[in-house]
Amino acid sequence: MAAEPERQITVDGVALTLVVERKRVKNVNARLAGETLRVSAPLAMAAARLDETIVELARRLLRRAHARRVNGEHDAVALARRVARRFPAPPRVERVEFSAAGESRWGSYSATTRTVRLHAALRHMPPWVLEAVVAHELAHTAHLDHSPAFWALARTACPDTDRSRAFLAGVSWLAHAWPTLPPLERALLARGAAPDGEDPLPG
Ligand SMILES: [Zn+2]
Repeated sequence: MAAEPERQITVDGVALTLVVERKRVKNVNARLAGETLRVSAPLAMAAARLDETIVELARRLLRRAHARRVNGEHDAVALARRVARRFPAPPRVERVEFSAAGESRWGSYSATTRTVRLHAALRHMPPWVLEAVVAHELAHTAHLDHSPAFWALARTACPDTDRSRAFLAGVSWLAHAWPTLPPLERALLARGAAPDGEDPLPG
């Protein structure tokens, strides 16, 4: 058994303290506790290959820890079930997962796993937006298209459906336009603006 000196590594932008111990083990094992990554590695494993393996394991552990944190903070299942009960034939919801895996959609629902998947950025938006996205995805259990019947059902399950669509269109627009906006307009937008007499931050 030999403990190597501690090192600092950065994985996906997260700084970690790395503690490696060479042991009589067959496989590399890694444990993440806060910002410390403890690794046990076979005595004979080449350093370069070990470093590669460590980055892979660290990335997996960091993503898992992030998902746990994100999903633990939110009681999104309760919200989704509340929305589901408003449907004439309530879809069953076992799980709600926030996903940061490069989603290109705001949400999806799998009737097989009874899981609602939501874009991680929705956690930071007003709750009625999240509710409307859940209603939208659950409404697809009755209508696969975006027909007038689909929208009618979505609006029944969530009266904020149209407001939420406009909100998310604005979010998408700003996310795309932000890098190209002149500094002055950016600064003005960052200060917040609202129609007369309205709160700039939607609640
Ligand atoms: Zn849709």
